[in-house]
Amino acid sequence: MTAQPLLSAYAPGRVELLGNHTDYNDGVVLGAAIDRGLTMRGSKSTGGMISVSSKTMGCVEVGGSEIRPLVDDRWANYVLGVVSELRSLSIPIAGFSAEITGELPAGSGLSSSAALELATALFLLKLHQRELPPLAIAKACQRAEHRFAGVQSGLLDQVTSLFGRADHAVFFDCRTEEVRTIPFPKGLTLIIAESGKKRELASGDYNRRRAETRAAADALQVPALRDVTSLQLKTRHDLPELLRGRAAHIVEENERVWRAVDFLLAGDGPGFGALLNASHESSRRNFENSTPELDLLVSIAQNLPGVLGARLTGGGFGGATITLCEQPAAEEVATQLAKRYRAESGITSRVIISAIAAGAR
Ligand code: ADP
Ligand code: MG
Repeated sequence: MTAQPLLSAYAPGRVELLGNHTDYNDGVVLGAAIDRGLTMRGSKSTGGMISVSSKTMGCVEVGGSEIRPLVDDRWANYVLGVVSELRSLSIPIAGFSAEITGELPAGSGLSSSAALELATALFLLKLHQRELPPLAIAKACQRAEHRFAGVQSGLLDQVTSLFGRADHAVFFDCRTEEVRTIPFPKGLTLIIAESGKKRELASGDYNRRRAETRAAADALQVPALRDVTSLQLKTRHDLPELLRGRAAHIVEENERVWRAVDFLLAGDGPGFGALLNASHESSRRNFENSTPELDLLVSIAQNLPGVLGARLTGGGFGGATITLCEQPAAEEVATQLAKRYRAESGITSRVIISAIAAGAR
């Protein structure tokens, strides 16, 4: 028997720079791929079995012909979901054996789920010598997450991980599906700080926000909150206060993304940083998707020398924050952020200085 060739694919995690909860509201988002990710490495197997192992999650082996979501080893559903979606696209995925490795923390809001889906998709396409347009790959991974993992995520995570480019932000218009990469101003650094509280504990909150923003769009009689401006919203006193807050967050986040694109193109770090601060304040007051821990990380960061802005990143309700700072201050900001957060909350947070890196490959 000849040994099957060993192939691999890699996909990075991502941060959401701006555009919080805008993706499923037909809005615009700004993300960046980070320098940590997941790799899937393996080969075709004889006999049609699919076996996948992960250093952190264990080992799963299933018959390859009938794929359905697992109840016990739920982590493997991200992989099996991709197998199922690729088969729906007429790519006849055969049995394979693969291992997942990487430094990307799971459940911290850095989108390890999308990284796992994309590493799987690119690995399987390579293994079967097939190609798909990038956006079709991103959407197949999103459907895998919806159908096999039961998470109704928007497309931001997959698009950012796939289209990421070193030292560039990724702009994505969720309605027109335009993807653009925008140079990140030189001399600025991103710091990621984990709050130590997992976001997945509160997935009910995520779905509730989805329902509330839908209700706000219905009340405003627009197809999506994308179709409202903050000026128009100010005149709608008929909207119940809670829905007005939710809508204001989405509408203003969209406006912040458009302004951020201009600031980035102009190399205006302080302008961009101010938008991050405004975004967090809106999360705290209007959207109520922050937590005391995220607020603490943000307020510590905002008061450190060299910091231009800070906010929660991703869905909220736990997870991580991003801090934008001047490059020479980065080491000291990261050290102080971890130290002061531990002193005030008792939580040891993982704080990393992350480069903006290339996308999946
Ligand atoms: P996030 O995408 O923010 O990291 P999610 O809850 O969406 O959080 O996805 C995390 C899930 O992805 C984990 O619970 C696990 O099922 C899967 N996952 C992430 N990393 C790995 C890994 N290295 N090996 C196996 N499964 C992983
Ligand atoms: Mg995820």
